[in-house]
Amino acid sequence: MKAMMLTGIRQMEMKEVPTPRISDIHDVKIRMETIGVCGSDIHYYLQGKIGSQVVQYPFTLGHEGSGTVVETGSAVTRVRPGDRIAIEPAMPCWDCDQCRSGRHNTCRKLKFLGCPGQAEGCLSEYIVMPETSCFPVLPGLTFDEAALSEPLAIGIYAVKKSVPISGARIAVLGSGPIGMSVMLAAKAEGCDQIYMTDRINERLRCVKKSGANWTGNPDEEDVTGLILQLEPSMLDAVFECCGKQEAVDQAFKLLKPGGKLILVGIPEFDRWSIPVDIGRRKEITVQNIRRQVDCVEPALQGIASGKIPVSNMITHRYGFQNTADAFELVAEYREGVMKAMIDFSITDRK
Ligand SMILES: [Zn+2]
Ligand SMILES: [Zn+2]
Repeated sequence: MKAMMLTGIRQMEMKEVPTPRISDIHDVKIRMETIGVCGSDIHYYLQGKIGSQVVQYPFTLGHEGSGTVVETGSAVTRVRPGDRIAIEPAMPCWDCDQCRSGRHNTCRKLKFLGCPGQAEGCLSEYIVMPETSCFPVLPGLTFDEAALSEPLAIGIYAVKKSVPISGARIAVLGSGPIGMSVMLAAKAEGCDQIYMTDRINERLRCVKKSGANWTGNPDEEDVTGLILQLEPSMLDAVFECCGKQEAVDQAFKLLKPGGKLILVGIPEFDRWSIPVDIGRRKEITVQNIRRQVDCVEPALQGIASGKIPVSNMITHRYGFQNTADAFELVAEYREGVMKAMIDFSITDRK
């Protein structure tokens, strides 16, 4: 089969590789249909690593996928050949202390699709996954929507780990796909006011159209000052969704005493800087987010019910052989890109 492999920094090549086979009775063989390009893929593409996770070339990225089941192991009960599925990229052991306490996102032996040293990604024609990673989707859902359940699940999880969200007043700093997912999840749960920022005006337009109450561009205006004018009592929670120190600095100003900062973005540096004085005086809680736990199904249900409208998120679409173009576009933040999809049903870039 063909796999789109990372062969160096900012280098990708289509390679012929052995088609993966079912080796466990709980395995499912999947034909890939659509794959979202994620910010974390771009970190590997540009830097060859995220923190201590370093790419050994060649390596296949990709973890936001949907597909069709083509074959199942003898013990598989969740899906059948022909089923359309959303793929949960995490493959926890289900047996360690973390898994047993419901924290399978921090499983001690976690394997994650497209994560260096753990598992090859899904930017290939076929993959094999355990059935626990396969979520059948309702007939009304598109393959795009199924694939978007992955970033959306992270938004739902981040909201769950934040504050009682119904009636809350929050800011989401960074309006890329993850920021947008947080906003959609918060909105669906009755969040009262959502302030969003980004440096890309197209992204701000997109999140405004999809439900954000207020948007601002920190390159063009004093976003912190403007939000505080509108919210003199300050905010219940701030979600950092861009991996920038400025956003953390803004968050400490925006949060009310007892407020919560939720760190969702992946920075390019190794340490955050936290203002001791404001943090202490306001008794701010900082919550890190590691992907998500058990939120794929709620994401799929939210999309299917129309409660969580994700379709505005997709701005670009490429055929499989043009994957590198999609990565370049996202890496350069060109054309106001929000989410670029790799679509196996097209042969050329549309
Ligand atoms: Zn992702
Ligand atoms: Zn485990």
